[in-house]
This record gives sequence, C-alpha cells and structure tokens, in this order.
Amino acid sequence: MDCEILTVGTELVLGFTVDTNAAEMARALAEAGIRVRRRASVSDELADVRQALAAALERCGTVIVTGGLGPTPDDLTRQAAAELFGARLVHDPAVLADLEEKYRRRGIAQMPASNRRQADVPEGATVLPNPIGTAPGLWIDDGHGRLAILLPGVPKEMRGLMESEVIPRLRSRGRAEDGGPGTVIRSRTLRTAGIPESALADQVGDEKRLLPPGLSLAWLPSLAGVDLRLTAWNLGEEEARAALEQAAGALRAKLGAHLYGEDGDDLAAVVLRALEGQGAKLAVAESCTGGLLGARLTAVPGSSRVFVGGVTAYANEAKLGLLGVSAEAIAEQGAVSEEVARQMARGVARALDAQAAIAVTGIAGPDGGTPSKPVGTVWIAVLWRDQVRTFTHAFPGDREDVRGRAAQWALNYLRRVVAGAL
Ligand code: AMP
Ligand code: MG
Repeated sequence: MDCEILTVGTELVLGFTVDTNAAEMARALAEAGIRVRRRASVSDELADVRQALAAALERCGTVIVTGGLGPTPDDLTRQAAAELFGARLVHDPAVLADLEEKYRRRGIAQMPASNRRQADVPEGATVLPNPIGTAPGLWIDDGHGRLAILLPGVPKEMRGLMESEVIPRLRSRGRAEDGGPGTVIRSRTLRTAGIPESALADQVGDEKRLLPPGLSLAWLPSLAGVDLRLTAWNLGEEEARAALEQAAGALRAKLGAHLYGEDGDDLAAVVLRALEGQGAKLAVAESCTGGLLGARLTAVPGSSRVFVGGVTAYANEAKLGLLGVSAEAIAEQGAVSEEVARQMARGVARALDAQAAIAVTGIAGPDGGTPSKPVGTVWIAVLWRDQVRTFTHAFPGDREDVRGRAAQWALNYLRRVVAGAL
C-alpha cells in the first residue's frame, strides 16, 4: 500500500528543528512494505494543515501526520483533521481520565487546564494509546478510502506509536487490501571507494540487464565513496531476499576490488579486520589529516588488537624528531612530497614496530598552495611488510573535504595493498 507523510510545525519549516520524524517514519514504513509517495511539512497554521491534509488524502488516500497534537494554541492538527472528515471534536472521558492519571503519577495533583484539549477526539476516530507522553495518537478512517493517522511530534512518542500501533495496523490493512501475505520493501547497499561515480557507472554497464524485475538501483556518492543501494519493491519476504542476493552477486562481480563492504560496513573496520586476519599491527603518521585517521581507526571497537598508535607530525620538527624524516628530503622536496610521505611511513612503522603503516602529508588549504603544489595536493604512503607504495592526489573541495578524502583514500589504499589488489 501507499501513503504520504505530513509533518506539522513552524519550527520545521523555518529549519530551527530538523525534521527527523519524516525520515525515520519513511524508513520504518519501507521496512513494513508500505511505500511513501510524498513527504511535506507545513507551519502551525490551520489553513495550511487542512490544505496539506486534504491534498494528501485526495492524492493517496492515506496520510500519516506528526506534530500539532500538543496542549498549546498552536497545536491545530486535531482540528484540521476533524474539519476535513466532517467530524465534531468531542471530549473523550477515557482519554481525559488517562491524562489526569499520568499527571497524578508524576506527583501533580491538578493537571493544567490546557491539557484538556488533548482529550478532544474527532468523532468516530480510534484512540491510539501513548504510554510515553500525554497526547494519544488518532486513527481516522472514513471507510471510503480516506485514512489519516495523527501522531505526536515528540520523536520518542512518534517512534513508540509507530511500533506499537501504526505499523501493525497498516500491515494487516495492507494484507487485506492485497488479498494475500504481506509484501516488503528491502534494501541492500554495496559500498565502494576510490573510484568516481561516472567511472563506476561505466564499469557496471547496463544496469537493467543486471537487475531482476522489481528491483531498483540508486547511486549515492559522498566524500567516502559511492554506495550502490539495491531496493526490492513490493515483493514477498523470501522473493525479495533472493532477488537482492542475485543482484548483489552480479554487481559484486562488476565492482571488483573497488567494493569494500556492505550496508553499515566502515572502511576503517574493514581494514582492521583484514590486518587482524594477517596477524599484523598498524601505525599511522599524519600531517594534514591531523589525527583523523587515528580517530577513524579508534572509533572501531576492538581496534586495539591491531592499531598500535599514531604520530601527528604537523610541523617539520615533528617529522624530523619523531619520525626520523631527513632534513635533506624536506629541504629538497618539501614537506608535501613523495619522499617525505615514504619516510614518515617507514619512521612510524619502525618506532611502533608495526607491519603496516599509513602516512599522509598534504596541503588542506585554504592557504599554503603554490603553482606546483596547489591546495588539495596530498601524498599518501602505504607500508606493508617492508614494501612502501606511494600515491598522490589533487583533491577538490575545502579544508574539511581535503582532509576527509585524504583519510578515506589512504585507508582504501592500505585495504587494497593488503588484499594484493593494487
Ligand atoms: P508538537 O507535537 O508539534 O507539539 O511537537 C513536540 C516537540 O517535538 C517539539 O519540540 C518539536 O520541535 C518536536 N518535533 C515536532 N515535529 C518534529 C519532527 N518532524 N521531527 C523532529 N522533531 C519534531
Ligand atoms: Mg508543534
């Protein structure tokens, strides 16, 4: 089945609060096989809420709304929905009793009068109990193809109600509509690094021939690399699993050594796992990344089994004194050079007795560039069992981009060298 999502709140429209509810609900709905066709946000204005609700019901028939169920005068979602469904707002004594009980349990004998509004229910609506907060959810079904589900805006309360009430009800409704067992929407992501989106697309070729029916492929580039997300739409659980497996297998063959993992896999964790498998230790020497590599590596639980440590050698004195880089190399080739990167890698591996090492030296900008070494110039050295390989890049972007890209590429080079795939 299909639905739309509407989030209500002036703070959302102005950007003071990021609309996390819509994204979270969309993911939970996809998981349950419900396709979200559109998402919108409106201010706390009665006319805006009413119009957006009406349009969504007209287009799609089912809309899930969050926000505007609070006790204050700017909370107008109940009223807008009641008007649209031609229902009176009636005081629900059970909801009121529940609200009063919640206040008593918090040690407040007299509930603020404002909260009484939260016991107003459009006639004929089903009350969805909200054990975490005050406002209950409301399920308004006119029996003629229009369903509005109203949920509180507080993310924790929205989440609780989605899990306990909305998803189970929508699942059984979807099954009844389709007249069969439920379908699902399932995704699987293949993660690549070290190759631009366009080159990867050339390598993959005609994707239509790779994908079984019912599957789509999304290309998601970022600083970290390109993720390829396969999605199976409206298939049975087992059918979706098999189709994703088949497509992932076909894609994997095309991606070759650029593929480093799937779904939540992190490149640093992949590198550490590979080194652990070889019984090797890793050390890093960082200039322009200034600790980013160390941070990425130590963010991985259990990294101490492989990662020995790193040296942030920013100034020349640190490169000379801590890593044994030669004064001649710096004088003749400059701190950002192949030779200095090579010596940094050797120096840190020696100092920390590691079989693997990464060194990074570069110009992150915005200052410090020269015609021969513009901002973005980075040298990376990878040491693996006494062999040193070097790589250079002219990274685009600002300081943060250059540093982030340098760390990701450096990890990726080490991954490939250790795998013997470079
Ligand atoms: P409301 O139900 O509109 O009174 O909102 C209650 C609280 O939840 C406020 O602090 C809102 O900023 C927050 N909130 C409302 N809608 C969203 C949303 N879509 N995403 C994240 N937070 C929200
Ligand atoms: Mg609000």
